[in-house]
Amino acid sequence: MEVINCKKCNRLFQYIAGRMICPICQEEEEKEFKLLKEYLYEHPRATMIEVSEATGISIQAIKHYLREGRLIITNDSPIGIECEKCGAEIKTGRFCERCAYELEMGMRLITNELKEKTKAPYPNSSKSKMHYLKRNKDN
Ligand SMILES: [Zn+2]
Ligand SMILES: [Zn+2]
Repeated sequence: MEVINCKKCNRLFQYIAGRMICPICQEEEEKEFKLLKEYLYEHPRATMIEVSEATGISIQAIKHYLREGRLIITNDSPIGIECEKCGAEIKTGRFCERCAYELEMGMRLITNELKEKTKAPYPNSSKSKMHYLKRNKDN
């Protein structure tokens, strides 16, 4: 266990795991989050500024909750955040659907490449491989 400064209020606290904020700030954040959720439930069409002013929660914090995927807003809400890659408006998370798909594909390619490199040479391990070998022989 280590003692660190809270990222929010700078108070020293015993850090165990998870986010680097003290229990007091964590509790405050929970309250804040609850307030935010309740407000959005009652005012589903409120803008980011309206929500921020009514709840006293900074726009930055609201965006943070959206990025974390903790705060879910309805589709007709004017509130949105930007995709970190292309800047398109999204409702939650870090990337728009298209970028998320592209990134996932990219990741899959990388992991496949790694798998190929680390794979032990088992002959006949898969059908597709057999086909591949056969085709090569025919040529
Ligand atoms: Zn704190
Ligand atoms: Zn995007």
